[in-house]
Amino acid sequence: MRSLTFDELFALLSTASLSTADLARLRAWIASIAHPAECIALIEQAAQGRPCPHCHCPRSHRCGQASGLQRFRCLGCRRSYNALTGTPLARLRRKECWLMYLQCVLESRTVRQAAAVTGVHRTTSFRWRHRFVPGAARDRPRQLTAIVEADETYQLESQKGSRTLDRPPRQRGGVARRRGIHREHDCLLVARDRSGQTLDFHTGRGPVTAAQLATCLLPVLAPDVLLISDAAAAYRRFCADAGITHEAVNVQAGVRARGAIHIQNVNAWHSRFKSWLVRFRGVASRYLAHYSGWQRVLDARLLATPAQLLCAAAQLD
Ligand SMILES: [Zn+2]
Repeated sequence: MRSLTFDELFALLSTASLSTADLARLRAWIASIAHPAECIALIEQAAQGRPCPHCHCPRSHRCGQASGLQRFRCLGCRRSYNALTGTPLARLRRKECWLMYLQCVLESRTVRQAAAVTGVHRTTSFRWRHRFVPGAARDRPRQLTAIVEADETYQLESQKGSRTLDRPPRQRGGVARRRGIHREHDCLLVARDRSGQTLDFHTGRGPVTAAQLATCLLPVLAPDVLLISDAAAAYRRFCADAGITHEAVNVQAGVRARGAIHIQNVNAWHSRFKSWLVRFRGVASRYLAHYSGWQRVLDARLLATPAQLLCAAAQLD
């Protein structure tokens, strides 16, 4: 049998009546294929006109190709560079697989699943995750305005993946040695305004302090903001010191809301984060900020395609 040309195939496809399920399959398939040159073209296009990453001189001349990318030589400092020099993606190989890998990031796939889909090794898949994700999560809202909810969520400290532990191993995974929040817990502070802009901060171990709140929140809160939190003393002290209008809901006493005074948006974010995190079967403390940033990017739906994610991760947009 003669094989179909692409035009014939396309004509056939255009006449077929596709169900929603067919369309979804087709979209997923298209998202999973990428031409080897597509990724390079996207990177070159996004980096067009970028000055020298070493000395910021805008003048350069072309000087051959290396790993698929155009090389430039700076006329100021005479050093050479390409579109990815100085970005988190510099010197990563196998660019033909990047877009497929970024589709896996959008689908929240695990390291192993992404390795299987893209055909790279597990260690490569892991390394790529921790280069692509922080880059993409770097794009954070600059300021939270009007009514801002803030609350923390705690995760039991984890040394997953570490060769040496600085404490005795826990038996059967995740049970703390004593009750309550203490130095065994990593604190993830989340602040969200009512327009949905969200910021996440990994403040370290143990309950959040007024000083940590000041470090994280002061630079990002608009001056006339109303901050809503639970009844924890750290928030009261921080707001009093910084002169920020503050309302507290006593969640522990069973008070959930007083009209618009509640922290339900931020708590809903926490619960989406925690249920999203389950698939990874625990994350190491040192990567907690990568995961909360990843969830923030997915949750905000600002970066919806592998190409958008690529430009954000390469910090080229
Ligand atoms: Zn230079």
